[in-house]
Amino acid sequence: QLAGRTAVVTGSTSGIGRAIAQFFAREGANVLVNGFGDAKEIESLRASLAKESGAKAAYHGADMSKPAEIEAMIRAAEKELGPVDILVNNAGIQYVAPVDEFPTEKWDAIIAINLSSAFHATKHVLKGMKARRWGRVINIASAHGLVASPNKSAYVAAKHGIVGFTKTVALEVAETGVRSNAICPGFVLTPLVQKQIDDLAKQHNITAAAAKDMILAPQPTKEFVKIEEIAAMALYLSTEAAAQINGASFSIDGGWTAK
Ligand code: NAD
Repeated sequence: QLAGRTAVVTGSTSGIGRAIAQFFAREGANVLVNGFGDAKEIESLRASLAKESGAKAAYHGADMSKPAEIEAMIRAAEKELGPVDILVNNAGIQYVAPVDEFPTEKWDAIIAINLSSAFHATKHVLKGMKARRWGRVINIASAHGLVASPNKSAYVAAKHGIVGFTKTVALEVAETGVRSNAICPGFVLTPLVQKQIDDLAKQHNITAAAAKDMILAPQPTKEFVKIEEIAAMALYLSTEAAAQINGASFSIDGGWTAK
């Protein structure tokens, strides 16, 4: 469904972003992978994406907290793969602490990586998308883009921010064939959440299984969302069937935000 399209997926060396890159490649898109990790593993991911798509795959190691590197990544995608048709703003980090103990540098890093990076990347793809009268900006927000939890002030602020940014872009591009939407996952068992489980287990001196139950408490299904379920939504939003979906936020959270 995506043959001839070029997609940039930020933070796609792991978790949700990697699943999205794989779903896009399977549909024939050129894909640019971004994120940190072991160079050999990243190269094998890049090669497997190119093989699956029968198209091109590239990697760029831009740090999403650095605006100049974000611009360089978009320019590299254009040069190596072609004009960017689909941008998935996915890179994200977490830090858990009460506001009065929250390290200022963690606040700054979360706002930069989870929120401002989406502004920078979107800014650099929009001109081309508008000129070609087709484009998709897909922001991976969170249930925490819609509701809050204690001790996650920076993350909740960034995710609420990205839901607002999604809507603003949607209104600006509405008549240009470009679409801007957000996906709001509940808990997905990726390294980002595994760390929270490990920290909780240590903090409360409980088993990993008990910590998992604690994490899943706000999620009515008591099951983790799967990375493939998020990727399927990102793929759908990239198709023609989603042409009139704009400025929307899709909850995939087992009913968390229905409460
Ligand atoms: P993950 O830790 O598995 O992957 C994060 C990716 O971002 C990795 O590829 C990592 O290298 C990359 N990254 C981190 N900092 C970066 C930086 N400065 N520059 C470039 N890349 C960077 O996490 P995940 O769970 O797959 O999270 C992906 C997105 O989904 C995040 O925005 C996260 O907030 C969101 N999300 C996750 C969950 C969940 O439960 N896992 C729920 C809702 C939303």
